[in-house]
Amino acid sequence: MPHQKNQQQKPIILTIAGSDCSGGAGIQADIKAISATGGYACSVITALTAQNTQGVTAVHATPQAMIQAQLDAIFGDLAVTAVKVGMLGDSETIGTVAAALRKYRPAHLVVDPVMVTANGDMLLAEDAVNCLREELLPLADVITPNLPEAAALLGEAIPAHLAEVEALFAGLQQLDCKAILIKGGFLQQEARSPDWLLSGQQVRCFDTPRIMTNNTHGTGCTLSAALASFLGQGYPLDEAVERAKHYIDQAILAGSKVRIGH
Ligand code: PLP
Repeated sequence: MPHQKNQQQKPIILTIAGSDCSGGAGIQADIKAISATGGYACSVITALTAQNTQGVTAVHATPQAMIQAQLDAIFGDLAVTAVKVGMLGDSETIGTVAAALRKYRPAHLVVDPVMVTANGDMLLAEDAVNCLREELLPLADVITPNLPEAAALLGEAIPAHLAEVEALFAGLQQLDCKAILIKGGFLQQEARSPDWLLSGQQVRCFDTPRIMTNNTHGTGCTLSAALASFLGQGYPLDEAVERAKHYIDQAILAGSKVRIGH
């Protein structure tokens, strides 16, 4: 039964992710998406990034004790209903966050396996992919890889066509996680922008027309944060995905002509 919306009782949604000082992705995008979709947003910041629309110039990982202190402060007081995990940066942080999630057991967990920005800047150490796969994916209700991330989780080449994406499904279904939402936005040459929800042996395609714009920085963060927000409001997974996909489509459309930075 979806959460009854009222101002006093908004579901509390936690994002555990990195800060994007330019406001397009990361924690900043998550807080906007959670707030706009009816949740109350709180955050654990795993890293500071210095970046703008042209790229990332510096990354500062939050000390583990400070990540732990943020997690304990939030879970020790706020009744969190859903968690979204984004940029973690390295194996140590994955370990700290996974241990906290095992301890506090939020009702819903969305893991966005953030690895690299659209400009090619690394947001996860290469040697941390195994750790992510083994420590965090089994805890998630759903993971939301883009195509490069799905390929990296399997150690395969990045698919460039629809048929190559479908060829990854069998491997993805072997991963130790409950459900996977694979995002097709990277298939630049396609006229559509389908996402696929793999749950057990079932595959459901959420197909929408591609919106032609360069303003897509932060769309992965926004989708996964909206998904956590809708799960926290009590929607079942496929309906939460449908709502989150509709939300991100409307957000991309609304922002398609916005000019911020260079
Ligand atoms: N998290 C942070 C802190 C980032 O800076 C980025 C991209 O720059 C991402 C996540 C991933 O962004 P996207 O939603 O574009 O995949």
